Amino acid sequence: MNRKYRKTVIAGNWKMNMLASEIKPFIEELKANMPAKRACDVVLCVPGVMVPAMVKSGKDAKVAAGGEDCSCFEKGAYTGEVSAAQLADVGAKYCVVGHSERRQYHGEDDMLVNAKAKALLAHGVNPIICVGESLEQREADLTMEYVAYQVKTALSGIDATALRHCVIAYEPIWAIGTGKTATAEQAEEVCEGIRAVIRKIYGARPARAVSILYGGSMNAKNAAELLAQPDIDGGLIGGASLKPADFATIIAAANQE
Ligand code: PEP
Repeated sequence: MNRKYRKTVIAGNWKMNMLASEIKPFIEELKANMPAKRACDVVLCVPGVMVPAMVKSGKDAKVAAGGEDCSCFEKGAYTGEVSAAQLADVGAKYCVVGHSERRQYHGEDDMLVNAKAKALLAHGVNPIICVGESLEQREADLTMEYVAYQVKTALSGIDATALRHCVIAYEPIWAIGTGKTATAEQAEEVCEGIRAVIRKIYGARPARAVSILYGGSMNAKNAAELLAQPDIDGGLIGGASLKPADFATIIAAANQE
């Protein structure tokens, strides 16, 4: 983390878990366990239908609500989709785009991720843009080449002013939901590489200001070491964000200097 230049973000990704009725007790337990004074943004990204309940319950606890995905289209005949405008209208401050599960199960590619990020930016919602390599790519030593391509494509046509509202989440696919975490060195190497890619496109200042998160089996035990890395500005957390005490411990780790 480097709070001098950028904000720390701890974002949970609930995926298709939990119910809207479980949000209030969850937030109460989280509030009882997490530090009252915080040096990071805390976000819980939830299914679109649960965003209003998260906005309501999260308000007092200063927990922002986020979506998990959005349409790349502004409005119209796209049955089942949720637009960026609709997320913004119910109070979402962030939204995940390009999660590897969307890429894997819904065939989403980097151009689509770019369109979704732009749709969110147009409505004042901060995109959390996920990138990350497969195990095969890592083993073939293609990690940085592939992640650089993903970052460049996802940010295509986004200017330096809008970049300030973007968060990048480096999530090696092999570490998501597997209990297999990247080592702090592996995670830092790629996050530093992502910043270098952004520096090449936008220059030193904008690159210094972008928050880059690590995601992939981050938990209460390994968070402190990962967050101590200079280019890791927070976490995108799946499984551990479903347990209020564990999520609170990660938030506390992000409070350390
Ligand atoms: C994720 O879903 O983005 C994620 C990182 O999940 P987990 O923490 O469970 O690996």
